[in-house]
Amino acid sequence: MTHLHQAILKRLHETEDNPAVDADRKLTTYSQLAGQIAAIQQRIARCRAVGILSTRKLEAYITVLACFFSGIRFVPMNPALPRDRLLSIAKFGGVDQIAFDASTADLAGSLGQVTLDICDEIAQLATDNGVIQHVEVKPTEIAYQMFTSGSTGDPKGVPVSYGSLSHYVTGIIDCLQMPEGGRYSQLFDLSFDLSIHDIFVTLANGGTIVSATAFDLLMPHVYIEKMQLDHWFSVPVLAASAARGQAGKELKWQLSTALFCGEALPTDYASNFCQFIKDGGPLFNLYGPTEATIAFTTRKFDPDLNGFPTVPLGNPFGGNVIAIETENGIIPSIDEGGSGELLLGGPQIFAGYDPDLGDGMFISDDGQKYYRSGDLVEVVDGELIHLGRKDSQIKLHGYRIELGEIEAVFRRQFGCSAAAAIVIGEAEQGRIVVAFEHDGKIDDIEPLRDNLPAYMIPSAIKRLDALPTNVNGKVDRKALASLDWTT
Ligand code: AMP
Repeated sequence: MTHLHQAILKRLHETEDNPAVDADRKLTTYSQLAGQIAAIQQRIARCRAVGILSTRKLEAYITVLACFFSGIRFVPMNPALPRDRLLSIAKFGGVDQIAFDASTADLAGSLGQVTLDICDEIAQLATDNGVIQHVEVKPTEIAYQMFTSGSTGDPKGVPVSYGSLSHYVTGIIDCLQMPEGGRYSQLFDLSFDLSIHDIFVTLANGGTIVSATAFDLLMPHVYIEKMQLDHWFSVPVLAASAARGQAGKELKWQLSTALFCGEALPTDYASNFCQFIKDGGPLFNLYGPTEATIAFTTRKFDPDLNGFPTVPLGNPFGGNVIAIETENGIIPSIDEGGSGELLLGGPQIFAGYDPDLGDGMFISDDGQKYYRSGDLVEVVDGELIHLGRKDSQIKLHGYRIELGEIEAVFRRQFGCSAAAAIVIGEAEQGRIVVAFEHDGKIDDIEPLRDNLPAYMIPSAIKRLDALPTNVNGKVDRKALASLDWTT
């Protein structure tokens, strides 16, 4: 049994009457949650992998935990994704049953797969204090598979093991010294691995998961006050909208802690968000890719540390290690300075994508194996600063996007010889546009919606006789960005 299994079982048994989940205006206690988990366990016992077509709902949390205790891999399937993309996630994830809630019943029915009605099963089978079956797992077995954007044109599944997940949750609670109990925000979609932090950190700490509605995502300052949150975790862009929404209004509720992850955290976003935290309580920047299990480094925000446009990435925690691959070789400690690609090593690193193991994403040095993060960093005054990406992966409004995937789908869909996707505009104004070469005309980009999620659909496209290239013969993305994209 991993530390995490033990920690959550203990909470389910010892904090029985405390609220575990506050979702859809209903509180569910720890003992009710235990009964619901036990009920779903009966229905998934024979599965190898369960797709979860539910997000920010009690049903999603129950199914995640039922899989976790049954030793069954779960695969989040975001209901907002196009049908074809959901089907490829089910196929590549080896899903043999898709669990759905009342809001996703029609969508689940349209997928033509074996499905599981979570609400119905709970209504029939759940009892308070139901006994959770705990199936023994090896730390190397896969707990969940998270599908992100893939540059080949298909979503890419990142398998994360029980050992890595357990290491992360116990490590982050210890590193941030999170107090026991309290009400935790839950803003992330289940298909974004930061939601796994929300679920497991909150329950391991005896707290309450407070699920956000679509309205809460638009009005985060109202969510903090109305739901009387203690602990905040979101992408940086929500810090800016919370501060904007709160401007000129009386502050009636304050958090104890705030965490941000997923994108570079602008220093002014962090400064402005401090008003929402009582007694100068801590605000942390977390950094990490899905492949390294949720987050890998942390840095407490220091308002007196001026001069950096974004909050530094900080240091690894637990048994995690980092190094930088510079032009002069690998530097195993940031104390020595340097700049280059950030390398990540230790128990949170995944074993590789199946089936293309070992395609150059790992490197070994002095007996330590590292994952190449693709993130470029520089050490400035002893601080680790994020400079951007080595590849064409971007973050837009918190979503991880491979521009190469948009290009691959665009070429495939319209039969173009060449297509280049770029982002124009800064931060919140950023939008994706695509330039392409084609003999004919493309009037309608709607077909892209069959394969790409809404956040990857270009806001403008432009036909060119030839894409501009630089001296190396590569597409000149700067030249593309300088074109007129207003129409
Ligand atoms: P994901 O796998 O969706 O979590 O995306 C991981 C990528 O998001 C990282 O490789 C970084 O490029 C970016 N990222 C995550 N957190 C941060 C952060 N605090 N600062 C800068 N970039 C970040």
